Amino acid sequence: MTARRIDGKAIAAGVRADVAAAVKALPGQPALAVVLVGDDPASQVYVSSKGKATVEAGMRSVEIRLPADTSEAALIERVAALSSDPEIDGILVQLPLPKHINEANVLAVLDPMKDVDGLTEASAGKLVLGKPGLRPCTPVGCVILAKTERPDLAGANVVVIGRSILVGKPAALLFLEQNATVTLAHSKTRDLRMICRGADILVAAVGRPEMVRGDWVRPGAIVIDVGTNRVPAPEKGEGKTKLVGDVNFAEAAEVAAAITPSPGGVGPMTIACLLRNTVLAACARRGWTVPAPLDAG
Ligand code: NAP
Repeated sequence: MTARRIDGKAIAAGVRADVAAAVKALPGQPALAVVLVGDDPASQVYVSSKGKATVEAGMRSVEIRLPADTSEAALIERVAALSSDPEIDGILVQLPLPKHINEANVLAVLDPMKDVDGLTEASAGKLVLGKPGLRPCTPVGCVILAKTERPDLAGANVVVIGRSILVGKPAALLFLEQNATVTLAHSKTRDLRMICRGADILVAAVGRPEMVRGDWVRPGAIVIDVGTNRVPAPEKGEGKTKLVGDVNFAEAAEVAAAITPSPGGVGPMTIACLLRNTVLAACARRGWTVPAPLDAG
């Protein structure tokens, strides 16, 4: 391997330390509510680790776990109640929701001032318009990681593969906000390999295990791998699985200047940025000054 390994865990620990220091400087304690519907094991793990990280940062964590057969109306009522609760600063509805619940209907009652996931129409609109607002956590994490390698992204050629509302589309807009020249690729993109080879910064958010091969990467590029895919791992024993990214790490690491591992890259940044957003949301809603070092960017 010739590439530097971008240590998302260590960088996220730095963001979390900044958040904890900021929380101490606030005149009150922010609270983050996380709503989980159903018993999906991966979502349960995410919700528990978000709750733990919230408390570790000195904030209050409210976990609301609802059964899988919760009706859309009942969930909407819970989210609306959290939206109007003055003691709650951030609300995260863990996705995906069970199939009988329409995600958009639930997000419609979430107060945009508390939208720490940056998923409401109001937050998305502010991002497109370049107005201040809460930005989606995973894409913010991608930009922070890229900037550890290249602090000034102006003029950089960034290729984002994937155009989901959660990751790809906001990532493209956030890199654009940094004055990068952005190409947003997706499943209908032609000559994807050649397009990727033009990238100074290649962001993969596809959900296809190790799709990006070494010869897709420009020598000296920075590779940010958002993908987390569970695949069979017979080498670990029968029926065992492991997590891999959307990038073939071993191949890409021979060509890139720097690369995030997956797991251990973007994932830890998502939680760190969620905590950061909770502080920003609390400050905006309660009229508090954002403490340094969270006041920049
Ligand atoms: P998604 O909603 O399934 O979107 C995938 C995107 O990839 C779509 O835009 C799709 O294009 C595109 N795509 C699919 N196959 C393609 C192909 N062969 N060539 C080019 N583009 C292709 O997924 P997501 O929610 O954005 O998540 C992407 C990955 O990131 C997943 O592995 C997910 O687990 C991971 N993730 C990680 C974190 C974290 O914190 N680490 C957070 C969120 C997601 P079309 O639009 O044309 O269909």
